[in-house]
Amino acid sequence: MDTGGLGDSCLGYEVILTDDDTSTPRCPHGPTLLFEKVGKRGETGRRFYACSACRDRKDCNFFQWEDEKLSEARLLARVVENKRRKPPFSQQQYYARLQQFISLPLDEKKFCQDCQLLLLADETGTHAAHVCVPLAAAQLRRPSRLLRPLDNKKSNAQYLFTEPTTRFLLDTVVTLGFNKVLCLGTPRLHELIMLENLDGKAKPIKSLLLDIDFRYAQFYGQDKFCHYNMFNHHFFDSEASSAVLQDFLRESNGEKVVMVTDPPFGGLVKPLANSFSCISQAWKNQQSSDSSNVDMPMIWIFPYFFEARILDCFPSLIMLDYQVAYDNHSLYKHGKTGRKQSPVRLFTNITPAEIVLPKEEGYRFCAVCARYVWSLNKHCNKCNVCPSKDGRQWKHCSVCERCVKPSWQHCQSCGRCALPDHSCDQSRGKEGCYNCASPGHKRKACPLKASAVMGPHRRKVASSRHSREKKKKKERACSKK
Ligand code: SAH
Ligand code: ZN
Ligand code: ZN
Ligand code: ZN
Ligand code: ZN
Repeated sequence: MDTGGLGDSCLGYEVILTDDDTSTPRCPHGPTLLFEKVGKRGETGRRFYACSACRDRKDCNFFQWEDEKLSEARLLARVVENKRRKPPFSQQQYYARLQQFISLPLDEKKFCQDCQLLLLADETGTHAAHVCVPLAAAQLRRPSRLLRPLDNKKSNAQYLFTEPTTRFLLDTVVTLGFNKVLCLGTPRLHELIMLENLDGKAKPIKSLLLDIDFRYAQFYGQDKFCHYNMFNHHFFDSEASSAVLQDFLRESNGEKVVMVTDPPFGGLVKPLANSFSCISQAWKNQQSSDSSNVDMPMIWIFPYFFEARILDCFPSLIMLDYQVAYDNHSLYKHGKTGRKQSPVRLFTNITPAEIVLPKEEGYRFCAVCARYVWSLNKHCNKCNVCPSKDGRQWKHCSVCERCVKPSWQHCQSCGRCALPDHSCDQSRGKEGCYNCASPGHKRKACPLKASAVMGPHRRKVASSRHSREKKKKKERACSKK
């Protein structure tokens, strides 16, 4: 069965988050997620468990129907498989290896490119047929440049920040007064913080990297790296790592923690948001009681077209105009100005006015919106916002009473703005909503279906009660961890 391309509900699969994952079957990536196929008409199919981290069968082919009973033999085979897929070394062993590696004379320091492994003196023989390169001390401090980026599009593709973007992120959090950065899937930011600390020029910043890519365990001690899956809040090293996070989230002597995360874009928004809530909850539990309704400061880096889905899960986040740049990103398009445009933005619960976007890169402050915006994002006096999401200059439609993409035109027969070559029949939707049969909207926007992906307008109506309930549910779900 092909479960490729699972993505919240947009591609026809919905993730069902359960309060308790102790009885959930496990793949090599921790507890699996429960999926439900949703048909065009809103009808649901048989539920099944699949891997939380890999959306490609090649990486993890775990599959089990929710109501399926497994034979002893299959259960045993699963235990064996989960063991086989473990990293070759424990985090403790990796750290011990690092100490040994550091003490090697320079001409014996080797890195095996085939195995992506720092080699100890007695190991070169085993890797004789591999490509092994000498390693300078400086390279050891830049693992994100040394390691080959994982390039699996569907699971853990690694898109690394450019130097200016990494610097912008670090400068931003430092300016805001944060001195502890939880790097969740942001190895390059973690790396820059570590480098700056070595430099000794600025006040030291603490950083903890949580990532599923265990190759990083070779370069950092256990208090700097945890092998972690952000789709199911799973620590591969269980107790030890989870304690490291707990400790990191504690703010003593004026420490201030911020989380910066850049998850894989193919990822499911709902389970990600759930894990971030668990982390935020753990942070809250460390706070004094009077600040218990404040959320943990966070920056979630994700493409702008996920805005509605992110805000549905996290109504307190605001999308900023800053375009996150990557060294190896295929999503880049050349904008009109000849400048590379990235669709990736920051979503944050930090007051937007406090995040200064660089003037030299074309951002300005909009006093009305009280946030920094991209130069082409012109303030609309009728909508009273800077409306552009995609970096292009949007235009106001007086019939729709809102700003729309520059390529759109108002269509008389549809009664709304759309691309000039759209097909009117389709956008009108002969059958209307598959959920409640109303002709006025599609299933995705149906106000009667709580789990539907809601557009920005409907969200407001449903948010307060739902988010309160969701919040309670989350607290229950995280408390066991
Ligand atoms: N721009 C970032 C890298 C983002 S790429 C930087 O330059 O630092 C996505 C990151 O998330 C990668 O480091 C990848 O290893 C990690 N990742 C992918 N799937 C993950 C998962 N399920 N759990 C935790 N981390 C994951
Ligand atoms: Zn898996
Ligand atoms: Zn090798
Ligand atoms: Zn407008
Ligand atoms: Zn219009």
